[in-house]
Amino acid sequence: MVSAASIYSTIFPTVIMNSAKSPDALSTAQLLINGEFVTSRTSEWRDIVNPATQEVIGRVPYATRAEIDAAIDAAHVAFGSWKNTSVGARMRIMLKYQMLIRQHLSRIARILSSEQGKTIADAEGDIFRGLEVVEHAVSIGTLQQGEFLENVASRVDTYTLRQPIGVCAGITPFNFPAMIPLWMFPMAIVCGNTFVLKPSEQDPLSTMELVKLAVEAGVPKGVLSVVHGGEEVVDALCTHELIKTVSFVGSTAVGTHVYRLGSEHGKRVQSMMGAKNHAVVLPDADRTHTLNALVGAGFGAAGQRCMATSVVVLVGKTQEWLPDLVERARTLNVNAGSEPGTDVGPVVSRAAKERVLRLIKSGVEEGAALLLDGRGVVVKGYESGNFIGPTIFSEATTDMHIYKEEIFGPVLIVLSVPTLDAAIELVNRNPFGNGVSLFTKSGAAARHFQSEIDVGQVGINIPIPVPVPYFSFTGSRGSKLGDLGPYGKQAIEFYTQTKTVTARWFDDATVNDGVNTTISLR
Ligand code: NAD
Repeated sequence: MVSAASIYSTIFPTVIMNSAKSPDALSTAQLLINGEFVTSRTSEWRDIVNPATQEVIGRVPYATRAEIDAAIDAAHVAFGSWKNTSVGARMRIMLKYQMLIRQHLSRIARILSSEQGKTIADAEGDIFRGLEVVEHAVSIGTLQQGEFLENVASRVDTYTLRQPIGVCAGITPFNFPAMIPLWMFPMAIVCGNTFVLKPSEQDPLSTMELVKLAVEAGVPKGVLSVVHGGEEVVDALCTHELIKTVSFVGSTAVGTHVYRLGSEHGKRVQSMMGAKNHAVVLPDADRTHTLNALVGAGFGAAGQRCMATSVVVLVGKTQEWLPDLVERARTLNVNAGSEPGTDVGPVVSRAAKERVLRLIKSGVEEGAALLLDGRGVVVKGYESGNFIGPTIFSEATTDMHIYKEEIFGPVLIVLSVPTLDAAIELVNRNPFGNGVSLFTKSGAAARHFQSEIDVGQVGINIPIPVPVPYFSFTGSRGSKLGDLGPYGKQAIEFYTQTKTVTARWFDDATVNDGVNTTISLR
């Protein structure tokens, strides 16, 4: 294998890197092709930057077309034998994999925090939520079973096979570099498919640690491959004739592009996309529990969760709770994710920070009331970090940019309405449908809400209702394209092709019942 240093020196003139460190001191995100971790031969690289310090901690390649093709070809060849590998063997790899993830969880969480910015505890949660999917994958022996019905006609039986579909691709976002890749490849692989992963180019190092553990757990060569890069790699995956499915998680603009391009090229595609998640608060809700939940869900992970609460809808008298909400948010500790006691870490990049600041400015200019302004936050020892403190707007309207756009930063918009039905109407008018919450002590109100709200994932006194892996992630409307979500039963459907067999067996005693030229009425 060619060393990172020699590749680097050959291509140095065209490399996009700013690090003062020598290439050997940096983590190079490698490609995984046909079971080998290799350094890309590309001339295009990107820095991986610690969002709290701006320190360049690694570099990631934009894989060449030849490398992408090699990964897909290897996955195609591996499918030939992997699809016939026994269910027990596949289960045992997942059993070992979950054990290895547990053993390495703290170490990977530190890497994740350093490249993504979230707190160590939150990084551990990111890995843990993915680990739960791997644990569930161990149950494939019951999850992938087909159906059987005897005597659908005289001496005729019908049964279904849930067969793996072939080479599957996954494209993942920066905000959950552990959980979201783990939503995808363990379920795809355990069903008997092979998988080509394209992690986020912003924070691929923790994803690669999880990939290394998968190989250590026994995933055979070619069954899991990784290619890094951006638009060109994504487009190649969406159009390559050997790719059968594409799973995408990320922004609405890119997810829509991926859905269209993949579908046009005959792939089965699922795109989980952007969001604007409302939390509706009724006057009978438990005040302390509710306010704590809103602050945690609005500002945790610096608001960079697709299920973060981004709009609080105060119903009736709960408008009086607003000052209390602001005071609780003000007490949050903004600091580097690696520092103990941090509540809110930096956003992922300078570009992300600039975008959030632009949206806050637009809110002020459009006339919303800025009750808490996190723009001027300076963190001692981390002066160049991408920090934004908790920010709260009230008196916003639904035509303002801060309401219409996904901000993906620590910014809460507070709206007020007179009744629960007015809140339901407001939420249902918003095009997104990822998550929504209701805070109340009334079972009748909760039941009315869950029945009438047009959002795919509903929390009742739960601020971030992400389902555990025995269910599926069921975002809806503008937050999703494609019918089936990741993990759980829907992932089994997504990653398998149902084949229906109708069978009749003759025995020697079968009488000759002649030629029948009509469709059977029996
Ligand atoms: P993104 O869309 O910028 O990137 C996602 C992936 O697409 C990355 O791998 C990236 O390399 C690739 N990509 C970026 N630009 C591309 C282009 N022009 N053409 C082809 N591919 C491209 O998203 P992000 O900023 O990494 O993640 C944040 C977004 O993800 C937010 O909108 C968030 O709501 C969403 N998200 C959604 C869910 C969900 O389940 N609905 C979960 C997590 C994140």
